[in-house]
Amino acid sequence: MKPTILVTGGAGYIGSHTCKALREADCLPVAYDNLIYGHKEAVQWGPLEWGDILDEARLEQIFQAYQPEAVIHFAAFAYVGESVTDPGKYYRNNVAGTINLLESMRRHGCRGIIFSSTCAVFGEPKMMPIDETAVQNPINPYGRSKLMVERILRDYDEAYGVRHIVLRYFNAAGAEPGGGIGEKHVPETHLIPLVIDAALGKRDKVEIFGTDYATADGTAIRDYIHVTDLADAHVKALKKLRRDDTSDHFNLGTGIGTSVRQIIQRVEAISRNTVPVRERQKRPGDPPELVADPCKALQYLDWRPRFSDLETIVETAFRWHESGEFRVT
Ligand code: UDP
Repeated sequence: MKPTILVTGGAGYIGSHTCKALREADCLPVAYDNLIYGHKEAVQWGPLEWGDILDEARLEQIFQAYQPEAVIHFAAFAYVGESVTDPGKYYRNNVAGTINLLESMRRHGCRGIIFSSTCAVFGEPKMMPIDETAVQNPINPYGRSKLMVERILRDYDEAYGVRHIVLRYFNAAGAEPGGGIGEKHVPETHLIPLVIDAALGKRDKVEIFGTDYATADGTAIRDYIHVTDLADAHVKALKKLRRDDTSDHFNLGTGIGTSVRQIIQRVEAISRNTVPVRERQKRPGDPPELVADPCKALQYLDWRPRFSDLETIVETAFRWHESGEFRVT
């Protein structure tokens, strides 16, 4: 029998790509999603169970029905700006919702969880690139909600033996190279989809937030990692958890930084269109540079990014937006 993996947020961007990777690794991914930000069209590799992580009774039903071997937990709110204006929404969903999930796991003897964390748990780090020993000092409620869960997971490990692997993503980007699924956020705030929309004439311009950073071209630098590589890291993390039965945490990026202007240039080259830009002030709390040190993941997860060069990231994202988005492949 295929191992059943409960994937909360399985209809979302990284969740749906991970469901595909799980299916290819001969697991049955059960997507549990409230479809507020997820898309039912993105669930193609296992059942979709509608539900909210705040709904304990529904979670209980799902654990009873599927008895999952492990959980991959993506479901969370992830808009940094909204987390500042409405922190209650973030702490309730991201923190209290995770506790509900962990309690269901305990009740059903499910002892492994892979948790979606973020480089936002580091805030504005002094050391670049950022490895797993960097000081964790998030500067917004979104980052704090993720850090709180990281701490809760440690306590659940120690007290109840629920093992975890925390994966801290840098900038997830790109789309499944075979087509069919990709990045669709409503509202969209991420750089690459916004630049592609402008190149396709779906919006009139892109705003560059900050052109006077102390970087080579004055714009902010991020570490873009292809979503298919992230999905693969989840499968590798699951294998590690099964094999070692110990909790751990990894930063997932490429170690290579790319500026906002470099992204715009790459989209222009692939689309063969000019992207109109408007230069704006920095967004408050946006650090000049966030780049991962992926050495630990490379060594202990047996993981290698395969699609995370800028060309492939932008090319796959562009094809997905151009092709009219979700379809069954
Ligand atoms: N950015 C930008 N214009 C936009 C959206 C983003 O200049 O319309 C910049 C943002 O300030 C950051 C980088 O692009 O330096 C990546 O932003 P994104 O929102 O994609 O991810 P973040 O790093 O904020 O999680």
